Amino acid sequence: MDRYDVVISGAGPAGAQAAFRCASAGLSTVLLERDVLPRAKCCAGGVLGRAQARAELQLPDDLVEQRIKSFAVVWAGNRKLFPLSGEVAAIVRRERLDHFLVMRAEKAGAEVLEGTRSLGAREVGDGVVVTTDRGEVSARALIVAEGCTSRLASSLFGPYPGRRMAMGMALECEFGSSPGDVMEVHFIDTPVDRLSSRVVFPRNGWMFPHQRGGNIGVVAQAASAADLRDTIEHIVKDCGQRYNGTVSRSDIAAHPLPLYPRDCVHSRRTLLIGDAAGFVNPITGEGMSYAFTSANLAASSVEGLLRDGKGLNSYAVGCRKKILNDLSAAMFLGPKLHWLLGKVNLSTFFDQVGRNDDIMRACAGIASGESDWRDLFARMAPRTMPFLLLNHRLIRGRA
Ligand SMILES: Cc1cc2nc3c(=O)[nH]c(=O)nc-3n(C[C@H](O)[C@H](O)[C@H](O)COP(=O)(O)OP(=O)(O)OC[C@H]3O[C@@H](n4cnc5c(N)ncnc54)[C@H](O)[C@@H]3O)c2cc1C
Repeated sequence: MDRYDVVISGAGPAGAQAAFRCASAGLSTVLLERDVLPRAKCCAGGVLGRAQARAELQLPDDLVEQRIKSFAVVWAGNRKLFPLSGEVAAIVRRERLDHFLVMRAEKAGAEVLEGTRSLGAREVGDGVVVTTDRGEVSARALIVAEGCTSRLASSLFGPYPGRRMAMGMALECEFGSSPGDVMEVHFIDTPVDRLSSRVVFPRNGWMFPHQRGGNIGVVAQAASAADLRDTIEHIVKDCGQRYNGTVSRSDIAAHPLPLYPRDCVHSRRTLLIGDAAGFVNPITGEGMSYAFTSANLAASSVEGLLRDGKGLNSYAVGCRKKILNDLSAAMFLGPKLHWLLGKVNLSTFFDQVGRNDDIMRACAGIASGESDWRDLFARMAPRTMPFLLLNHRLIRGRA
């Protein structure tokens, strides 16, 4: 049996990026993927500027459906457009992006074994043995990048609690006319009735534009499949009216996403990255920038382990600094935002936000990676509280 420096299980954005980094650092790297590529993945396909920067990605034009230069908030028959000063995200089809990332890893020297499903793993002496449906793979370190339903993460680190997950559904539509470069967020169950101290992910949806149509979807923490499907139909109808009808549509796909990071993300020879580690933003559902960041951190820690005999604790430290601080701010801010929006007149509130350069810059900064959720919180806290208390025009019922 060949022995690699590192085996990576799962070839989504996290696994492909880790393979790219490990192979580029000269480590003998094998990437296992249960499906044959390109494979479909239920996702809205929004790659924020910060995600592109963390993956050192120059996305070629033929991979990009739309480059986003504005976003709109849609609620109860209203729509508010926020033009932005530059490109904040690119919309892609995930099957194409993921394949592109795997090919990049392959070019850097990683061996890719498609159609190979990992079934179990054990740490033995100074290495790890992964059992797959095509035999065993041995390596000095293992990176688990199998997404939120990871079998290896569950067997090595314990199952991820279902109550900590949200469920997403999405489809692709072609419209009668192009939706342009506007990314739409549809508030369905925001505002929420009660202020919660825990993460809340109320049912909300989106339309992320493609060249001739868009990806339409919804995510929620506690909604039935029927409610999620109804929401998608509602957004399809709304967008169809705005963009000259719906010409065609795909089937609806569904996939869970984790709302809380796992408590433990590495052992002596194994690291969890991306969704397998629970790294998804609990306000937006965005996971790719955390997938790329954790992949970069894991690759450096594996290099440190194999070259200098350092332990993998540097991975936990890196995750705390570069991922968990940002996620904690979002976990704190999210429930307040969903509740706050119920206390204000939304039209007036969004008008004020749109005119507030500081807050708009902070939002664009999160997308580009120049700032994070902690900065937005720091800028909003001193403004929103007096803003709510003093501006009587905003208090619902007096608008
Ligand atoms: C509806 C929805 C919309 C979303 N929209 C966005 C968005 O617009 N922007 C954004 O940044 N994030 C979005 N996300 C989150 C994003 O999809 C994830 O954060 C991201 O895919 C995580 O990447 P990953 O590589 O960790 O896992 P995944 O993308 O899930 O990849 C895991 C890979 O591992 C493979 N695998 C699984 N088990 C095994 C096994 N046993 N053996 C071998 N291979 C295995 C899978 O086939 C897959 O290829 C969305 C999520 C959902 C559900």
